[in-house]
Amino acid sequence: MWNQKQNNMSKNTSLKKCGIGLLFVLGLLLAGCTKPERQTTPAAVAGSALPEYAGEPSVAINGNVPSFTEADLTTTSFEHYSDLDALGRCGTAYACIGRDLMPTEERESISEVHPTGWHAVKYAGIDRDYLYNRCHLIAYSLTGENANEKNLITGTRYMNKEGMNPYEIRVADYIDRTGNHVLYRVTPVFEGDNLIASGVEMEAQSVEDDGISFHVYCFNVQPGITIDYATGDSAGPAYTGESDAGTTNDGVTNAGKTSQTETLTFPEGTTYILNTNTLKFHRPDCESVYEMSDRNCQPTDKSREELIQEGYDPCHSCRP
Ligand SMILES: [Zn+2]
Repeated sequence: MWNQKQNNMSKNTSLKKCGIGLLFVLGLLLAGCTKPERQTTPAAVAGSALPEYAGEPSVAINGNVPSFTEADLTTTSFEHYSDLDALGRCGTAYACIGRDLMPTEERESISEVHPTGWHAVKYAGIDRDYLYNRCHLIAYSLTGENANEKNLITGTRYMNKEGMNPYEIRVADYIDRTGNHVLYRVTPVFEGDNLIASGVEMEAQSVEDDGISFHVYCFNVQPGITIDYATGDSAGPAYTGESDAGTTNDGVTNAGKTSQTETLTFPEGTTYILNTNTLKFHRPDCESVYEMSDRNCQPTDKSREELIQEGYDPCHSCRP
């Protein structure tokens, strides 16, 4: 078993070294032409080298140009999720997202889905403590696909919140605002037989105008934590915070509603939870409350009407 792991790890290292060389060559090629040609398949799927993590949660690839063709552009909404492979891993999730696909019902628990490499582990220094999230390929806010095993991978908190979420918010807000459609494709990139993806490739292109256009790679890493991508095992600073069990204060809790087995507590009198980044407000038991970063999460005792007057919008999912 140990030998097996060692083999996988050294294979990954040489893959990465090889990747640096390929990336260099690719960089030279791109520098030579002013406008990179559109590719019909996503770069990672086509076998291009993966970028190296260098401190930023995501990087533009393919000149930030998505690989859709003119023929792909459609104003008819659809969504497609690849079948799991022989190892149980997700493949590309692809959609044309319009308002008609966006969720209208309250989100249900996804805790019964166990994506490949899944471990519920906590470390010191991670926002909301858990290393891994059940990470939607296409965000729930975009297509309302929730407990779909073909749309959930084991992703670090860092990739979920710092990597993918800013792009998801941009797309959701754009569709919300314009009623336009966005071609949207997310491809998890698994190296070899690894059970944990190295990262995800995200492509988006708005159909009716050029309001949204990007092609990025988000790194499935967590700063300060070592991850064995073959198995999902990890190592890092020991978790020293309070245990989940025995939250005895009188706060509002959302036990049983979160993706982890976590219980969030809020001060007595909490009516709603604000996301100070997206300016949405949620019921305390909304799954989005678990997903948002601590720094954006603010309990309030104000009424619905007061919050709307202050410029906050009710969440589509929990409909406060
Ligand atoms: Zn909500």
